[in-house]
Formats: sequence, structure tokens, C-alpha cells
Amino acid sequence: MKYYDKQFIDGVWREGSGDKIMENRNPYTGELIYSYRSASTQDVDDAYEAAKRAQPQWGATLPEERRTYLKRLAQVIREMESEIFQLLAEESGGTRAKFGFEYGDSLKVIDDAMGYHMMMDGRIMPSNIPGKDNYVFKIPKGVICVIAPFNFPLLLSLRSVVPAIACGNTVVLKPSTETPGSAFLIAEMFEKAGFPHGVLNVVAGRGSEIGDYIVSHPVPSLISFTGSTEVGQHIGKVAGELLKDVSLELGGNQVMIVLDDADADQAARAAIVGAYSHQGQICMALNRVLATPKVYDDFIKAFVKYSKEVKVGDPFDQQVSIGPLINRQQAEKVEERIRETIQAGAKVELEGKIEGSVVYPWILSGVTNDMCAARCEMFAPVCSVIPVKDEEEAIRIANDTEYGLSNSIFTKDLYKGLQLARRLESGMVHVNDQSIHHEPHVMFGGEKNSGVGRFNGHWVVDKFTTEKWISVQRTDRY
Ligand code: NAP
Repeated sequence: MKYYDKQFIDGVWREGSGDKIMENRNPYTGELIYSYRSASTQDVDDAYEAAKRAQPQWGATLPEERRTYLKRLAQVIREMESEIFQLLAEESGGTRAKFGFEYGDSLKVIDDAMGYHMMMDGRIMPSNIPGKDNYVFKIPKGVICVIAPFNFPLLLSLRSVVPAIACGNTVVLKPSTETPGSAFLIAEMFEKAGFPHGVLNVVAGRGSEIGDYIVSHPVPSLISFTGSTEVGQHIGKVAGELLKDVSLELGGNQVMIVLDDADADQAARAAIVGAYSHQGQICMALNRVLATPKVYDDFIKAFVKYSKEVKVGDPFDQQVSIGPLINRQQAEKVEERIRETIQAGAKVELEGKIEGSVVYPWILSGVTNDMCAARCEMFAPVCSVIPVKDEEEAIRIANDTEYGLSNSIFTKDLYKGLQLARRLESGMVHVNDQSIHHEPHVMFGGEKNSGVGRFNGHWVVDKFTTEKWISVQRTDRY
């Protein structure tokens, strides 16, 4: 794997000037991949100044020019495919299957953004003042700060960075301390695609040390944050005080409702994808299954059977579907939460081993919604099955959570599925499928503590631009 030990500021790779030496470790082996010096507040200042300097010229580029840059970026990503896989597997423990999704959607995000200039339209409006014309322009926000999580470091960085620059903004990107290489890889992609200096800048350092400085800095007008609800709430507070706009894509606690008329086998196969993709470390991952009496036993039987077939281990092994969690501490936290849930009365249908950072699939049944594994975002291949007496109880329990990101319902009655989906308090619901869905041209986002704002298509264009009223007086008025 390529080792990145420099920050990327104003088109230049330079050593961070922070006082901390940061370590990037392989989550599967625990081995040190490389270390680097963290960014300091001075580096953050320099990155924002570079972005601010670059923005007017970048914002004035013609739509066709921006399209050409994005085309080159996509081409560079295609040329770097195997390098990207190596990096994602080594630094984040992502398997080949997870890579396929992340890589494919990253390219789709770029593809869609090539048409975003078409959505930067304005209005000409009548005036009540004789001789006056009113124009409303949609213009770039300016400089946007992007803060990314560890779980999909390539896609979830690009999901903000690409629309931001496609709309004429410039960016300062702060990656997760667990996955800085992915952000530096993005910087290298931008460099190879020939983007002007300062359009993208990357500063890596611990969020607890430089995060507040990055968020409260006077330059960015929008903080586009993807990560946990806890940190998102903190960022919301800091930004709110300064009246900065935020886009917050936060945690989730998904359910799959399996109704009596559903195909239990189909639902169980879907639950394998929903609960175990990327080891359950997905904001939309399936945390709870709510099954009605007629399907409850059949569902559990099939779910256990298919779970036993899932191969766990080294993410570089093509057959492996479940790799390591991001670090050993996460696995320890998960183990504690499982123990607490079992002590509270849950039954173990499938006992997964926990070896270092690797967690094998766990299925708990007879869970109640107040138990730890049902309340917490487990972020691991652990699923709680909760018995419910009917669909009304299912809706009530599904909504009894602070989160509201993505849910799913299995039923053969499609109209009922649609109507129940409307009653679920989440930004996204998938009928007869599992909860993990992302299509770069379709709206994405959560309700309640799962976030503020919407991604993709015109939703992201609206978020990453602002509007300006200019009136022109054609005749003498005074
Ligand atoms: P996290 O701990 O909240 O960290 C996310 C980012 O915030 C990291 O870059 C982190 O930097 C930074 N950060 C931490 N404290 C900060 C502060 N005070 N100011 C500014 N930045 C700060 O989340 P994570 O563990 O990486 O990701 C997992 C979480 O993200 C889960 O809850 C998951 O559901 C959620 N997520 C949501 C979506 C969505 O679209 N809704 C998508 C993916 C993930 P450090 O790493 O240096 O601390």
C-alpha cells in the first residue's frame, strides 16, 4: 500500500505541523501501516485560506470545464482501482464485496454531479416597482468543510466533496483518524486529474483536538458532516452558535418488519445483507428484526442457517464477507453490549466468536426494545429479533428509537407495505428489501437523531448552494 504521511494544502504535500504523531493501523492484523504528523491549527488556517483564494476562480469556471475535470477524476479513479481496493482493505478492513459497492457508487456520484450545473438555475421575477427586474441567482456557498467517518471513507468523502466542487465551491476535507489514507488518496486523485491548487485541501488530525477549530473557523459557510449522532450534535451546537449552515448525516437503528404474509426465507436472505455488510458498520445496517407470530420461528431458523454460511476473516480473502471491525476497542464494546442484553433475558440463537477485532455473526431472539442491543447502534454483525403481535405493535416499536434513518418491511401485500412505510419515522423505507440502499440520483437522509439535510441530486445542489436576489432598475425611479 502507498504510504501517505503528508497533509495536502494548496496543491502541495507537506508535513503537518501539529505536535502529535498519528498512527494508522491495520484493523485486521493490528500492525502499524504508517505514521504521520497531525495537522495543526496553522495548517487548518492555511487550508482554509487556500480554499478561499481558489474559490472565486473555481466558481467562475464554465460548466463544461467543470465537467471535464470531473470526467478526468472518474478516469483517474478507474485507473487506480486496485490501489484503492488495497488501501480500503488494509486501512479500514473492507472486504472485496464492500469495495464493489463503495467504488461503484463513488463513480456514480461523480457521474451524476457532472449534470449538477443544470440544476443551478435561477428565476426572473416580476416587481411591484415600475421599471424594475428581479433576478434570483443560485450561487456557490463558498468554502465547504467536509468531515468524514471511517466506515465508507472514499464514498462518504466523495459524496460531499464532489457535489461541493461541482457547484463551484472549494473544500477542506478532514478524514477520520482511523482512515486518513482514503482522504489522501482522494487528494492524489484530484492532483492527477489536474484540479487547480486549493480546490481540495486535506487536513488530518484528531477530531477531539482540531475538530472544533475546523468547525468554528470563519471561512467555511457549510459544515458537511457524516458520522455519529453524538459528534453531530456537538458540531450542530458549535456551528449553530456561529450561524453556520450544517448538513448532518448521523447514526441509525434500523428495523426490518417481517409480517405474517411475508416470505420468511426471502426476508432472512435479505437480513444477511442488511445485518452483515461491512461487518454491520453501516449507518443503515439492520439492528433489529420485528417478526409477527406466524413467521417468527421460520425467520429465525432461516436467518441462523444463512448466517452460518457467511465466511469471516481476512478482508483480502475474496470469499470473506465479514472482515474486522475498525479496531479492537469497538469489538470489546460490542461484546459488553451483547453480554448486557443476554443478562437482561435475550436468547442466543447464534453465538458468534469474538477474536481480537473480528466479530462473527450473533443473533439474539426474544429481545425487548428496552434491551441494550435493541437500543444502541451496535455497528457490528449483531442482530436482535423482537417478537411482535401484529403490525401495529411493529410500527410502535420500530418508531420507539431516537433514530430515524432507514427501515424495511417484508409483506406480500405491496399496498399495505407502502402505507405502513409511510408511518415509519425514518427518512427512508424499503419494502420487500433490507435497509441498506444508496442510489446517487435518489434522495438520501434521516429524521430525528439520524440527521439534518438531504443528499444527492437537486437536494444536495440546494444544500451546497445559496440564493441571491439582485434587482435592476431599468428606468429612473427618483
Ligand atoms: P465519529 O466518531 O462521529 O467521527 C466522524 C468524524 O468526526 C471523524 O472524522 C472524527 O474525527 C470527526 N470528529 C470527532 N470529533 C469531532 C469534533 N469535535 N469536531 C469535528 N469533527 C470531529 O463517527 P465514526 O465512528 O467515524 O463513524 C460511525 C458513525 O457514523 C456511526 O454512528 C454511523 O451511523 C455514522 N454514519 C452515518 C452515515 C449517514 O449517512 N447517515 C454514514 C456513515 C456513517 P476523528 O476520527 O479524528 O475523531
